[in-house]
Amino acid sequence: MVTLGEGDTPLVRSRAIGETLGCSELFFKLEGCNPTGSFKDRGMVVAVAKAVEAGGTGIVCASTGNTSASAAAYGAYFGLTTTVVVPKGQVARGKLTQAIAFGARIILVDGGFDQALELVRGITERHPIALVNSVNPDRIQGQKTAAFEIIEELGEAPDYVFIPVGNAGNISAYWLGFSEAFGMEWISSRPKMMGFQAEGAAPIVRGEVVEDPRSVASAIQVGNPASWESALRAKDESGGAIDAVSDEEILEAYRLMARKEGIFCEPASAAALAGLLKRAREGFSFRGKKVVCIVTGSGLKDPDQAAENEPTFMEEYPPELSAIERAFAVD
Ligand SMILES: *Cc1c(COP(=O)(O)O)cnc(C)c1O
Repeated sequence: MVTLGEGDTPLVRSRAIGETLGCSELFFKLEGCNPTGSFKDRGMVVAVAKAVEAGGTGIVCASTGNTSASAAAYGAYFGLTTTVVVPKGQVARGKLTQAIAFGARIILVDGGFDQALELVRGITERHPIALVNSVNPDRIQGQKTAAFEIIEELGEAPDYVFIPVGNAGNISAYWLGFSEAFGMEWISSRPKMMGFQAEGAAPIVRGEVVEDPRSVASAIQVGNPASWESALRAKDESGGAIDAVSDEEILEAYRLMARKEGIFCEPASAAALAGLLKRAREGFSFRGKKVVCIVTGSGLKDPDQAAENEPTFMEEYPPELSAIERAFAVD
């Protein structure tokens, strides 16, 4: 009854990067293929459906961008009033464009994501508006389905799941999914959860709130993750890790994935592969292991990033066959 076509995203086998790591089975879960271009849709469809079921007419969220794009889309689909509160100047252009197109009310605040989340929590305590951030447990229930899809496709759990960590809802959701599957004896073991924050926004790694989180990966620019405790549980119970990668490492992975695998993701999503490359450099062996990197959002979300950080090789010729032939000869 309730869908914009979220979920059932591709699990693509690496053709190049896995081989260089001696990892024969590296996969990318392309969450950018969801209706609004990020995994947020999996949770949003459930959160919004439950809000409607409860008789609500309005939803609100704080967002680094993708939650607002998703809330705005599902809000439009259900005819709800959607308000998004976002940090001014810190949201990638594609994401803001989506919220505008879907007709959401957009409130810019001169602060970070953490402050925006605090504000919307205050509002929903006082007003009958549904909060659709990942502190809403319905979001987590929706997002856990990605773990089920990976199991369905591989026929078992992978050995490792590498995933970016921002507000930490998603790593918690995957762990819930794998744990439920394990409890139902659908899989005989659970993967190690490998969460990666950006170095300038790594509160869980540092063990303290980061007041002014900074990263090129705006979707994980979070200084005080709401699901901090459950992310630590996912790490501990799985025998995994939560670590940080630098902006340089993120952008290196972002380029590699596009140029070697044909996968264009947004910078935050590249933190997963950046984490895998970091572990490999540190000497961890992934030989014979099944590894899945969660590619959380589409590269089209953040077109300025691609334009700014990529050297541009554009050439101009007159529209004549002879001129174009000369261009091929030069190559
Ligand atoms: C929201 C988001 C994240 C971080 O997910 P959390 O659940 O906040 O940890 C990572 N990548 C992208 C593209 C996102 O939109």
